[in-house]
Amino acid sequence: MVDNVQEFKLREDSELRFAVGDEEDVVLELIEGYAEMFGTEITPNKKYTFPPSSRVAIYTYTQATIELFGKVSSHYVADDTPMVFYVNIHAAIEEVRQAREEQAMQSGYGKPKGPKVLLVGPSDVGKSTLSRILCNYSVRQGRCPVFVDLDVGQNNISVPGTIGALIVDKTADIIDGFDRTNALVYNFGHTSPGGSIGLYKAMMKQLAASMKTPQFESNSDALIGGMIINTCGWVNDAGYECIKSAAESFEVDIVIVIDHERLYSDLSRDLPEFVRLLKCPKSGGVEKRDSEFRGKTRTANVHSYFYGTKSQQVFPFNIVLQFNDIKLFRIGTEKLPDSCLPFGMEEEDPDTRVVEMTPSTDILHHLFAISHSNIVEDICKSAVCGFVLVKEIDMEQQKMTVLSVRTTLPSTNLVFMNISHLDDHV
Ligand code: ADP
Repeated sequence: MVDNVQEFKLREDSELRFAVGDEEDVVLELIEGYAEMFGTEITPNKKYTFPPSSRVAIYTYTQATIELFGKVSSHYVADDTPMVFYVNIHAAIEEVRQAREEQAMQSGYGKPKGPKVLLVGPSDVGKSTLSRILCNYSVRQGRCPVFVDLDVGQNNISVPGTIGALIVDKTADIIDGFDRTNALVYNFGHTSPGGSIGLYKAMMKQLAASMKTPQFESNSDALIGGMIINTCGWVNDAGYECIKSAAESFEVDIVIVIDHERLYSDLSRDLPEFVRLLKCPKSGGVEKRDSEFRGKTRTANVHSYFYGTKSQQVFPFNIVLQFNDIKLFRIGTEKLPDSCLPFGMEEEDPDTRVVEMTPSTDILHHLFAISHSNIVEDICKSAVCGFVLVKEIDMEQQKMTVLSVRTTLPSTNLVFMNISHLDDHV
């Protein structure tokens, strides 16, 4: 660990990379020059407090003097970064937008649509970071892209186990990331697509379909902004099938493969010809995170859903729900053996079937998604309007206490998530 204040002078096209330790915050200040973090400009002479376990890169195109206060577990200045490569990707995306605007103007027909860009590659190659950089650069260009996150393990839009979309109209906050207030979120309920491949593919289709509705398409700025779509790091076997399925569901025009030759080659064979495939290097700053670290990040994500962050605190409520007043559901059942079905009858897809659950102590410490839908058949197809965490179950009194960010629930249909979390707030 390195203590106290340290000053770093960055030359043109270099970045300061550092990792914050497990316990204490680290404060950063840009003393002089120009710098940005993952595409968001840093305001000079402002103090930014990074929480424990943050991994950060502060980049400059010109030069900058940076000060760090507090203990970092590692730090160094790197002269070799892929940032110029990333800027070129941004420029290529912007070119497509402009070409489509021109086409639409000349033909006088239809609203121009921006490119849909899918980022793929194994875990820890910087997919989420590049998504953030591309969204930020787009906003700085005056665009309004839609950020889609299909990563159910380390989701940047909502809690783990979800996929979602967000219209990005301002750059990400240096510490808190993108403003998630108006996100469209679907509950998948597992932290890996492997939890139910059929459901995962169905959810991606559903999310993609909800972005083709007249309501969504009436937003011309978001339409021309295009989509930046982040994916999970599972690139083999069923994971590869999910990538192809994502490309198909969202009808992507550009796929960026980060740091994986075989994936690039397989996709160049399997994707339609009109899809532009780009190879992209991994930044040397991205390091492998072990499963314990991933678990901690997931816990921190759920915690911040209920309690917010240092600068934007949330004060959740403990509310008591009588079993009689709510309905609990689970998505997915076991497949019935064919011999159990009447002759000629096909079973409804077991992966997406919604079944009612009886409350039991098994759901203690589990997250539930609050469904937008009051119609049981539509629960699987509907977005969610928040989450609750089961904190106590009283089978005798037929009630449970949940942690909720609202005093009353917007719907009484709660959908089980295979994600448990211990409320650690004292
Ligand atoms: P992936 O989405 O491929 O799993 P991420 O984009 O989440 O990878 O990056 C993994 C971690 O590396 C994150 O904590 C991120 O903050 C950090 N990181 C990304 N780029 C850099 C960099 N250039 N220097 C240092 N750390 C970085």
